[in-house]
Formats: sequence, structure tokens, C-alpha cells
Amino acid sequence: MVDEATAVYELHDHKRCIHDAVTRADEVCRDKNVRLTPLRRRVFELVWQHHRPVGAYDLLAELAKEEGRNAAPPTVYRALDFLLEQGLIHRINSLNAYIGCTAPGCNHQGCFLICHRCKTTLEVDSDLLLKSIRTEAGLHDFLPQQAMVEVTGLCPNCRDAA
Ligand SMILES: [Zn+2]
Ligand SMILES: [Zn+2]
Ligand SMILES: [Zn+2]
Repeated sequence: MVDEATAVYELHDHKRCIHDAVTRADEVCRDKNVRLTPLRRRVFELVWQHHRPVGAYDLLAELAKEEGRNAAPPTVYRALDFLLEQGLIHRINSLNAYIGCTAPGCNHQGCFLICHRCKTTLEVDSDLLLKSIRTEAGLHDFLPQQAMVEVTGLCPNCRDAA
């Protein structure tokens, strides 16, 4: 997992990332007894196209280019909702876009390092962070429900280029 995470910033065989992600998604869906229909799978692959969050309109545009797949917006939104529900993708609120989850099947909300220049987004282990959020909230008798963390900054590549 660590190797995979650092590789995001390097040139790598991204087809393998997509392939591995689809394999994991198949497993998750099989375990949960839900169906990864061809459209859901295609939307999932497109979300995984880069290590950058992708917006719903970009997905629609990509799908429109593909023959025989004139997916209407509601269909695509439903597919995205399905993928979110199954924990296969995350929604990056600050960008209003979606990114593939690197640890699907584990119940988590995710912590993301988002490069504001190239938009490369890395999902990192959020256990420690969430624990401190819960502790801090507890001090104020607050019950946290949603705690996605989106950190913006510069990735190594963009920092080197600057
Ligand atoms: Zn990759
Ligand atoms: Zn995740
Ligand atoms: Zn960057």
C-alpha cells in the first residue's frame, strides 16, 4: 500500500492501477452481493483514469465519446451514488469531483492530499487523524458523523517544478 501510494507521483504503469482497482471492486461487490453492471464498471474505470478527481460532467463527456453509450446524466449520477455507497469511490467536496478509493471495502471516510496545481490526489491512512478528531469532538460533547479530510498543497512534482 505504501509503495502504491508513493508511485502515484512517479511515472508508472497506470493500466495496472486501473486493473487492480477493478479486480478489487469486483471482489467488494461479490462480497456484498451487489451487481457491478457494465455501466457502473465503466464509470468506475473512468473515475480511475487518473490519480486526479474527475467531475460528473467530465464523466458524461467521456461516456458520450463511447459508441452505444449515450448515458443520461441521471444514469451516471446513479452509478456514482452506487459506487459511493459501496465505498469504491470518494467524493472530493472541495473539487466537486470523484476519486477511486485505494482501500475499498474498509469502512472509512478518507483523508486526501490534493495538489492544487496538478490536482493529483493521494488517499492516505486516516486512522490517527480520525481518532484525534473524535477525541477533540468528545471533549465538546459533539458526536462527529462525517469527517473527510481534504488537505490541499503541492505534490513533489509541482514543488520541484516551482
Ligand atoms: Zn496509477
Ligand atoms: Zn478510501
Ligand atoms: Zn502536483
